[in-house]
Amino acid sequence: MSADPGVIAPGSTIGIIGGGQLGRMTALAAARLGYRCHIFCPDEDAPAVQVAQATIAAFDDARALVEFAAAVDVVTFEFENIPAASLRILADHVAVRPDWPILETAQDRRAEKTFFQSIGSAVADWQPVDDADGLAHAVDRLGRPSVLKTARLGYDGKGQVKIAPGIDLAEAWAEIQGQECILESFIDFEREISVIVARGTDGATACFDVVENRHRNHILDVTMAPAQIDPRLAGQAAAIATRAAVALNLIGLLAVEMFVTADGRLLVNEMAPRPHNSGHWTMDACLTDQFEQLVRAICGLPLGSPERHSDAVMTNLIGPDVDLWLPILKEPESHLHLYGKSVARPGRKMGHVTRLTPRPRI
Ligand code: AMP
Repeated sequence: MSADPGVIAPGSTIGIIGGGQLGRMTALAAARLGYRCHIFCPDEDAPAVQVAQATIAAFDDARALVEFAAAVDVVTFEFENIPAASLRILADHVAVRPDWPILETAQDRRAEKTFFQSIGSAVADWQPVDDADGLAHAVDRLGRPSVLKTARLGYDGKGQVKIAPGIDLAEAWAEIQGQECILESFIDFEREISVIVARGTDGATACFDVVENRHRNHILDVTMAPAQIDPRLAGQAAAIATRAAVALNLIGLLAVEMFVTADGRLLVNEMAPRPHNSGHWTMDACLTDQFEQLVRAICGLPLGSPERHSDAVMTNLIGPDVDLWLPILKEPESHLHLYGKSVARPGRKMGHVTRLTPRPRI
């Protein structure tokens, strides 16, 4: 197939760092467009490894990374807790999209918040905290309740302690085990929303509709598409994500999570430069889904239309919820997605189901 020299054409091989369900769904979308995928991860039975070629190695195995780079035409990543240094090694040999400094910013809550503030997007009031004295000062400034979060390696509410009235600060600090932290004002939010924007090699951008997310035990439980919010607020959320993608010079996807406050303001919580759980609904309810959009963006293809043809409610199947697969298959309006994980540990994302309500065409 002939194409522009900057285009990584169908038939090429996409390298994906990480073997989880996001990599699996990216590989399946890539296969539809005629690409091969090569996964790099340490687990030989990971969800993505089941559907693609794989290199099984530690994320910091420099030799394996260099060999992997030689075997693929472009590299992307499907989760954040990989060393940015590994992406830097890859970037010496092959295009890495999104680029490693974006991952570095997303991995560190301090850098992430500073970045959003630098582009004029509001975040919850926050203070860096490096030790027990620093925590006491930060609590003096921000008050209670507030939230102590590790600056790095936190996800699904891990590495977080709520500083409620009466909580002993020494105990809270001990729980965090001396890691670099931030203290953040507790936001009495009206709802949590997120938006995913894609940006291509030509600078074109496309946003999926803004969605509302509900969490259970700090893990995403349900995503409702679209969010039931004022269209102006949805427009502001999309504009924040797009501004961030442009400022980062992103090629790929960027998911931005935000709080909507009771007085109708948006506060950015965090970002993820990869496909996002709150975008799984797009697989069944949009003209182009987030995984295909990622493939298009990183391969220099034209972005697809993110238009929503159906309203959708996506529910994660967490731990034993996966046992419901048979009744779900019997629901006519449901789309079931299972990730091929053999052990349904509590809190583990095993799959998801998207229930659709088609939108009337006018
Ligand atoms: P995070 O790891 O920062 O995404 O936090 C996980 C979840 O904890 C969020 O989705 C919120 O439900 C809750 N949370 C985090 N930060 C705050 C905050 N400053 N105020 C209130 N709730 C929060």
